[in-house]
Amino acid sequence: MRRLRNVKIVATLGPASSDYETILALFKAGADVFRLNMSHGTQDEQRARFDNIRRAEQETGRPIAVLADLQGPKLRTGTFTHGSEDLEEGQAFRFDLDQKPGDATRCCLPHPEIFAALQPGSTLLINDGKIRMKVESCGPDFADCTVKIPGTISNRKGVNVPDVVLPLAALSEKDRSDLEFACQLGVDWLALSFVQRPEDVLEARELAKGRASILSKIEKPAALNSFDKILEVSDGIMVARGDLGVEMPVYSVPPIQKRLVRKCRAAGKPVIVATQMLESMIESPMPTRAEVSDVAGAMYEGADAVMLSAESAAGRYPIEAVTTMDNVARSVEEDATYRQVIEASRKIERRTIAEGIVGAARELAETSAQIRAICCYTETGKTVNLVARERPRVPILALTPNTSVLRKLCLTWGVHVAYCEAADRFKGAVVGAVRTAVQHGFAREEESIVLVAGVPFNVQGTTNILRVAPCDERLIYRTDPE
Ligand code: PEP
Repeated sequence: MRRLRNVKIVATLGPASSDYETILALFKAGADVFRLNMSHGTQDEQRARFDNIRRAEQETGRPIAVLADLQGPKLRTGTFTHGSEDLEEGQAFRFDLDQKPGDATRCCLPHPEIFAALQPGSTLLINDGKIRMKVESCGPDFADCTVKIPGTISNRKGVNVPDVVLPLAALSEKDRSDLEFACQLGVDWLALSFVQRPEDVLEARELAKGRASILSKIEKPAALNSFDKILEVSDGIMVARGDLGVEMPVYSVPPIQKRLVRKCRAAGKPVIVATQMLESMIESPMPTRAEVSDVAGAMYEGADAVMLSAESAAGRYPIEAVTTMDNVARSVEEDATYRQVIEASRKIERRTIAEGIVGAARELAETSAQIRAICCYTETGKTVNLVARERPRVPILALTPNTSVLRKLCLTWGVHVAYCEAADRFKGAVVGAVRTAVQHGFAREEESIVLVAGVPFNVQGTTNILRVAPCDERLIYRTDPE
């Protein structure tokens, strides 16, 4: 099965989409990556979804990536004697460590780490930012605040502290258990919530021990301050617009999204734009015009993937939501302006032989209409990501015997993955690439492919060959690859 678009679709699974038939239908509608959201459901439920994804993979013969999204530490208020209290603008309110139920003047905030990091002037946000408070004075076990944006505070509401770096690890005990569970299950990607520093990513990487690639969710202002270093130690990025829009003014999210997408592309690392992309489709079979524009905008910016959350996990129209994204992608990618925008935003520094070779492969593909695909033998997927950052006009065909690499590359823009036997001779590699390109419908006899490979084969970091190979019938049909 060949997708007729470059941008990838990530669909979150949940109660609306856990059975095998729905997962298969979501894949057929266009989902390239399935997200298991560890914030909801039990490990047994996630295992059942995972098994269904792998069954769909077997049924269709196409690799599918699985992304396990770790919840991250959740900061919450304590409880209230009457369950809730209405807070008014300008009133004083105290947070402390006293466990007794709260009232209209105070409540427990059972997180000493927050008090340790607060300063007079800091902001506290309650209930997804619906209530905003300014810290007037604070100590190791209290914070006296003024209510700036009023609202109803109630039992165990979420708390955000946007303008300080909290002395908290990105991985809670639950996250550590979920990480080990997900790695043992065999997921391809781990998404890390609450990333504030590069060290948070390194800690997850150490626990994953190479069993899954690490995707950092950018949802905190602190992560933006160290974004370049976080990107350096991550395998991919998610622009987590939900939390980002709580922690930052919501109108600052679009420029941040643009900046992050551009940086990820320059670094050759996949980036997902996430959250509320087709929110109205939770209840409606049709998206709004604004939602379609938002999805299209992320594509014009050059995102590798767009993501569905509740739309596919808990909505009434999960398949329609994937189909909508697929239709938007096709419409955008057929637009001549899309190519112009993508090409104008190609800001790439090429410093290595591999980077030079993939740049030349893209230019060759632009020089001759005969060239129908860039075929790339890859050990780790790194060279394929380099080809993808060039955003070539023709599809990228990633060839590797490594199933885990094939699956991970399902997230990368423009990449079609295909299993191949390990190549050990150059001629055999040319034959293998030509045959696969023809079999998968990328090229026909009389057309050509560009082959990118490294000799010696099966050694990391050796990309050193660029070859234009005609899809000659003798190559396609010969029985002896020599
Ligand atoms: C987000 O905040 O945008 C996000 C994707 O994270 P979560 O779904 O875990 O809230």
